[in-house]
Amino acid sequence: MGEFELIKKYFQEHSQGDGVVVGIGDDCALLQVSEGYSLAVSVDTLVADVHFPSNGDPEKIAERALRVNLSDLAAVGARPRWFTLAISLPSVDENWLKSFSQGLLRVATQYQCVLVGGDTTKGPLSISIQVHGEVIAERALLRGGARVGDLIYVTGDLGAAAAAVLALESKVSPTSEDRDYLMSRYYKPTPRLAEAKLLAPFVSAAIDVSDGLVADLGHICEQSNVAALLDLDRLPVAEAVRRSVKDSVAVELAAAGGDDYELCLTVRDVQRSQFESVAKRHGIKVTLIGNITSGTGVACLMHGAPHQLSKQGYQHF
Ligand code: ADP
Ligand code: MG
Repeated sequence: MGEFELIKKYFQEHSQGDGVVVGIGDDCALLQVSEGYSLAVSVDTLVADVHFPSNGDPEKIAERALRVNLSDLAAVGARPRWFTLAISLPSVDENWLKSFSQGLLRVATQYQCVLVGGDTTKGPLSISIQVHGEVIAERALLRGGARVGDLIYVTGDLGAAAAAVLALESKVSPTSEDRDYLMSRYYKPTPRLAEAKLLAPFVSAAIDVSDGLVADLGHICEQSNVAALLDLDRLPVAEAVRRSVKDSVAVELAAAGGDDYELCLTVRDVQRSQFESVAKRHGIKVTLIGNITSGTGVACLMHGAPHQLSKQGYQHF
């Protein structure tokens, strides 16, 4: 099977949708952004045996790859529109491609994000996805908007994806029910798109938790020229994590483990009650975990005393 046949068979038929003037098959895709909106663009590359095992389930790899990208759109409050896929494959394995495209296109359909182009090459297995969303520029949730006195919140719960990685490495042995939860959080992170959209009017800065809460909150601090005081006792540690590891490890996983793809948000103190009531009304779990202070960096408190975490988050180099 050649390159063009492959594209046609596994990717092309899904390239039509709203705003797609020209999809897969020409030199460029032509896309129509809604009037008054800015294009929000983000790309992520997943390399076999760095980001996922090369013998991993292709359907899960694809699902996770797209979900993780969509999370970046959620973090700026953008609505997903289109994506491109650059894939490098060691060989044409039709079973692999079939599962991969099924996983990919299922998530694409769920979040109404259309595959409009890409690139296919031969080489070591790697996957790059570029997502395109739209957002009104003045309403984009950026990292630089936090001010001293803002409150820090996080959506959902934390630590499950990092605990899943420990379970995959056989370093912890959760019950089978807890294991299922941890794995679903790792392989199928939920991009918090709906939550971001509803909460956006009350948010001063936002980031999605990919490298770990402390590391990612650190990015907000850096870009906002502020510091953060994080109360580790308040972290919404996932129940399955609490049951699977001892308390001190659970807190470390929630604070420094990555891959949860929850949103860390800052909110002006005066907006607090509006923010919390909108969250409550829509059944969005948000937890107050600290506040923005002056200075630099993220300081942590545990049982009221300063606490140094042993791990600060994932870094590639
Ligand atoms: P070019 O040589 O102009 O870069 P290609 O031969 O790489 O074009 O691709 C032909 C068409 O197929 C283009 O529209 C491109 O966007 C699309 N395409 C290539 N690979 C993929 C892929 N993996 N997924 C989706 N679309 C793809
Ligand atoms: Mg090309």
